[in-house]
Amino acid sequence: MDRGKRRKVHGRAAASWLIPPMMLLGVAGGALVVWHGPRWLFPWALGLMLAGVVIWILVSVLWPARADRECAVCGANALERIDTQTAHGLVCRACGWRDESQSGWLLAEEEENRLEDLVLREREKPAGSPMDTPVATD
Ligand SMILES: [Zn+2]
Repeated sequence: MDRGKRRKVHGRAAASWLIPPMMLLGVAGGALVVWHGPRWLFPWALGLMLAGVVIWILVSVLWPARADRECAVCGANALERIDTQTAHGLVCRACGWRDESQSGWLLAEEEENRLEDLVLREREKPAGSPMDTPVATD
């Protein structure tokens, strides 16, 4: 296993812990601007926020997401759906890691011509797959 790739995956996971403090800082900054900031700053901040939303929508439309085929265990770019007839379950061709409950929806989106057929096949399957297991709620 490549240690550099493992470090990269862990680094990305560690960076995700920065999101909540950054959101709290954003809320605190917004409250500071609204209650104590100069009056001209609020419309500019609101305009920047709305422009960010519009830019985010444009980027999402012009450059849609691609399926992440990088294995979480070995870091190889070798993830595949376990069964090409469903959107549940991933397997790594490189290390053999396997998870029946992982979603393969983005991979299916790239590989299937018509997702409707896949969805209809999933509806016809009887319950009993790992995703359909009921959880006791006592
Ligand atoms: Zn792997």
